[in-house]
Amino acid sequence: MTRPSPQTQGLLRFLDATRYLAEFKKGLVAHFANPKRVLTVCFPVEMDDGSVRSFLGYRVLHNNVLGPGKGGLRFHPELTLEEVSSMAALMTWKCALIGVPFGGAKGGVVCDTKQLSDGELRRITRRFISELGDNIGPHTDIPAPDMYTDEKIMALVYDTYDTMHPGRNNRPVVTGKPIDHGGSLGRRDATGAGVVFATEQFLRLQGSDVSKDLGGQRIVVQGFGKVGLAAAQLFVSRGAKVIGVSDSQGGIMNPDGIDLEAAESYKQSTGSLSGMPGTSNLKNEDLLLLECDILVPAATASQIHASNAEKLACRLVVEAANDPVTPEADIILQERGIPVLPDILANAGGVCVSYFEWVQNIQNQRWSEQEVTRRLRQRMQQAVVAVLQRHQQMLEKHPHDPHAGMLRTAALTMAIENVTCATLERGIWP
Ligand code: GLU
Repeated sequence: MTRPSPQTQGLLRFLDATRYLAEFKKGLVAHFANPKRVLTVCFPVEMDDGSVRSFLGYRVLHNNVLGPGKGGLRFHPELTLEEVSSMAALMTWKCALIGVPFGGAKGGVVCDTKQLSDGELRRITRRFISELGDNIGPHTDIPAPDMYTDEKIMALVYDTYDTMHPGRNNRPVVTGKPIDHGGSLGRRDATGAGVVFATEQFLRLQGSDVSKDLGGQRIVVQGFGKVGLAAAQLFVSRGAKVIGVSDSQGGIMNPDGIDLEAAESYKQSTGSLSGMPGTSNLKNEDLLLLECDILVPAATASQIHASNAEKLACRLVVEAANDPVTPEADIILQERGIPVLPDILANAGGVCVSYFEWVQNIQNQRWSEQEVTRRLRQRMQQAVVAVLQRHQQMLEKHPHDPHAGMLRTAALTMAIENVTCATLERGIWP
């Protein structure tokens, strides 16, 4: 069966959410269906064997009403402009919801990092950033890490931009940098930490009597990258039990809980999680169907869809990845009474600490990790409270409408409203 592309998915969700908005100036909300600026660059890179290869890169600025564009750079062989555009819009809503003064953007290069040497990656990154020129900048559009990019790549982004603009403080041009170059303490694990803070707050406010906290909860995490692993570790530190994890090659499970440290070193030495002693292997599709309390998709988009949503055996889904649940699956889960903590809320911890990094860079300050974590926890908790309040209002207003009953709809309508009101306050130019 064909699934909607992530772009169609994003648009569908946006259109669904606009049905519940208050009346605004005609045509204004519809305007947000499209990005403000789309940039495609094609550039040559000399490869290690002396040949030249052509690469495609994108940077999309969806909206900058609330502040400069903000969003990650994704290096992926199947990256498309449609995907980047859809993720840029998601960043607009994420920033608006969590209350950081940024707009939404996203970018990346079509390439397979697993097939590239460090030198090739360095040349691709530098050439890409030089091609973007002044379309990025500390007060215009600020990149960050995303899938298959890390702090090493962000250091190259900074260094390239700084070489192009000597003599000023360029650190705020990119976030997710190494600590030595102005990166924030706590940024590396921020998305995973935000996922756990949001889940904790949700349980505190909405959990049944027996599950008001994370103690004893059985958790399954799809994805063992930066986000999935950090979230899993923090869940365990809160007394939860991670009974299943997976990487792109497959999953492992142990109903008594997986030793995450051992799993990490096993993956490091063998290249995959499969076959780890003391666990049983299972396919990625089957991992999602494990009986558990909380399912955390932390890998790629559209993992929970119309064909498997009916079979999920969890009590709560927390979207650590961007767009892991399709709109059809949303409705199925809603009808089954399984709440979904949506991406723009659950995984906003990354961009939230990116904002803290940007502030520290502008002020030439370094906050302690405790300070960063305290501020992150507070913002995530406040955002969950606000979304739950809106959710309650929507349930009262539209008691028989499954769309209105979704946490995602509550979160999206709040975010779209914020951006729309800010646009009206600034006025439509000229
Ligand atoms: N790539 C992350 C996201 O999708 C973080 C973006 C940022 O920090 O700017 O939210």
